[in-house]
Amino acid sequence: MASVYDEKELRRFFVDKTEKPTMRVTGNEYKHLAEVLRARVGDKIILCPNDGRDYVYEAVAFDKSSVTLSYIDDYENDTEPRLNLSVFLSLLKGDKTEFAVQKLTELGVKKIFPFIGEYTVRNSEKSDRLRRAAHEASKQCGRAIIPEVFETIKFADVPHMLDGYDTVVFAYEGAYATGKRLGDVVRKNDKNIALIVGPEGGFSEAEVGIMTDNGYTSVTLGKRILRAETASVAGAAVIMQLAGEWE
Ligand code: SAM
Repeated sequence: MASVYDEKELRRFFVDKTEKPTMRVTGNEYKHLAEVLRARVGDKIILCPNDGRDYVYEAVAFDKSSVTLSYIDDYENDTEPRLNLSVFLSLLKGDKTEFAVQKLTELGVKKIFPFIGEYTVRNSEKSDRLRRAAHEASKQCGRAIIPEVFETIKFADVPHMLDGYDTVVFAYEGAYATGKRLGDVVRKNDKNIALIVGPEGGFSEAEVGIMTDNGYTSVTLGKRILRAETASVAGAAVIMQLAGEWE
């Protein structure tokens, strides 16, 4: 059932679980509600236990360390795409991986696999930082499910993780002359798609060879060379459109 509430007016929080008819919220979420957002008795909020549903509660009492919420209603959140889009993305310089995770979350990506390839400059990234970016972006964009951000893997492991995808988009800038276009590979009824985007320095010939040997052909994202963060975000957006998810 569609929401009867003005979603933009209601603050959204991810919680471990919801309880009926009332529940207490403590810790950081309490602080955020009471001190940052200055919520008051009578305010309505949405709680998301990451199950795809929105649970509407009303704040009924505050004390120094908790707020008591009273259950009103719950309904399916309709922002989740039907398509399971996973993005395998090289770690990037500075805060660009975080930026990409934020944008991919807004676009409805379900899983993000950071990896280290031959030309990846960074040798580590705090997965907590990336998960926080996905969490915050999910709240901001109205999702009821936070995309999963996995621990960083090696590029060599990527080809072994692609079973079960209907389509694999191995984005390679060298593919313009001979490679496939996104429109050739993404079909409207695809349910599981993987997009693979390399680091600032691109993929090495050996890495392209590994993908080809495993049966994954490279796909072009156009004539111009995009920065890695642009390639991941623009690639995900076009895939969503081609799969019929851009409404
Ligand atoms: N090797 C390149 C260089 O230094 O000139 C650039 C790599 S590009 C900045 C980073 C990643 O974005 C690539 O590994 C690829 O996955 C993706 N990418 C960028 N532009 C692309 C395009 N036109 N077609 C396909 N993939 C692209």
